[in-house]
Amino acid sequence: MGLNSTQEEAERGILLTTVDKVTRWAQKSSVWPATFGLACCAIEMMSVTSSRYDIAQFGSEAFRASPRQADLMIVAGRVSQKMAPVLRTIWEQMPEPKWVISMGACASSGGVFDNYAIIQGVDHVVPVDVYVPGCPPTPDALLFGVLKLREKIQQGIPPKYQQLAAQGGSSS
Ligand code: SF4
Repeated sequence: MGLNSTQEEAERGILLTTVDKVTRWAQKSSVWPATFGLACCAIEMMSVTSSRYDIAQFGSEAFRASPRQADLMIVAGRVSQKMAPVLRTIWEQMPEPKWVISMGACASSGGVFDNYAIIQGVDHVVPVDVYVPGCPPTPDALLFGVLKLREKIQQGIPPKYQQLAAQGGSSS
């Protein structure tokens, strides 16, 4: 279809798109997080569901109690050695495609807990798609992370674990 006919269709109010674009739009507009918090960052994460921050405007207010109904894991807080296998199991139980946001300094790098009990970055346990800096990150910062994730989904950028698999690496 030429440019002229595309313009004509637009002028007549006809929307042209592809199934792929619509699928990505639907996907990014209904990312459901798992109900999963580890430490102080989780309090900030809970705030995004309030009317003040309103994560519902992005279709992501439905924090699911079952990982089988969630496609986003927000790692909110430090990850202890003991919790790491539990976190990994929850991530494995989530259906594909699925994404991970590492929220805060502790989840991303161990933060101030530079010791043997804390995992020094949750990317040692699960593949991370978006990192949100701060201690704690504000609810706005987490929302910005969600927006970045939505951008990636809309652009068709595959989740990190799929990128690693394509490179022949492991999923963590
Ligand atoms: S980054 Fe700060 S607020 Fe978040 S879990 Fe660590 S110490 Fe707590």
